[in-house]
Amino acid sequence: MSKGIKMLSAVDAQGASYTVDQLQARYENAQSIPALFCDDAKCGHAVRFVKWHTQNRKGRVTPIQVPAYIGLSRDSDHVLGCRYDAPGRLKLILAAASDPNFLHALDDGKRELRLLILHQGLQGRGASGNPAAPRPLPPGGAAAQRPTGFRATKEQLDSYLRTTTDLLALRAACEDDDLLAANLTLRLGKRRIAWHDFLYESGRYDEVWEKLAPEGGGHALPLAIIGTVKSHKMPPADATYTTTYLNCESQLNRTDDPNRREYFEVSVGHADAEWLQQFAVGSQLILFGLWKRGSTSESSKPHPREEGRIMTYVTHKLRLSLASKRQLAPVR
Ligand SMILES: [Zn+2]
Repeated sequence: MSKGIKMLSAVDAQGASYTVDQLQARYENAQSIPALFCDDAKCGHAVRFVKWHTQNRKGRVTPIQVPAYIGLSRDSDHVLGCRYDAPGRLKLILAAASDPNFLHALDDGKRELRLLILHQGLQGRGASGNPAAPRPLPPGGAAAQRPTGFRATKEQLDSYLRTTTDLLALRAACEDDDLLAANLTLRLGKRRIAWHDFLYESGRYDEVWEKLAPEGGGHALPLAIIGTVKSHKMPPADATYTTTYLNCESQLNRTDDPNRREYFEVSVGHADAEWLQQFAVGSQLILFGLWKRGSTSESSKPHPREEGRIMTYVTHKLRLSLASKRQLAPVR
């Protein structure tokens, strides 16, 4: 079963507190790591330190970096109501989402999340930052022309998006997919989608790029990215546009050519600068919606230390248009 929510601190048997950074430092200095326990007063169950490590990816040059964290020990579980109790949190999210059009109960006790409704709902809305006015439905008799026979109102769409980003934030906080996969199936039309193909962390932005159709191809896919906020870029005073951009830390890939590097940039724009700035620099964020390829640019410059060596940097932009503020959510 699930290994629960990743923790950033824990206590030893004497009750002394350790942060994940302190534990990583002890590991690097070859000091012993004490037996650790959950630091929620109600719980105190056994947990373990997982040091910073990398994960190799099949057929890819750059491995994924996994920051240190504290997770449950084998056969351990948080008590009900512990703040790291993932099943408890999942129950709360599901209890708040009762609309069977979106979260459909299956015979085996699982539920199905119907992504097509989100896909169609987001496609029908205005571009980034514009008021997301519901598109009026055609008058009676037109229902048959609608692909699913059901189109979410603005309020319904917002509520479905909130459920989706809450679930994604919970997934991002957990060590693995197990809990969510055991309880929820993702469905896009006739296709079932694995959680692994729905939520992408840094290190896998290039996989997202490859999945998406080339620029102008018209295909946008509903998927989520976990980003770490790097900066907010307000429009300059003399700009003719009003969009502020939230930029995430980019991913840098080596390639088979040692003189060629690839950047993958994740950013999102919205007219409400104050709202975007609530997502603090350094914090983790879920960005969900219809992602598209943006532009690709290339630049060459001399290597910083090796004379005569010319480096080429290719930058790929991943673009998300926001139709609703519910498409972004902090990972806690
Ligand atoms: Zn606990």
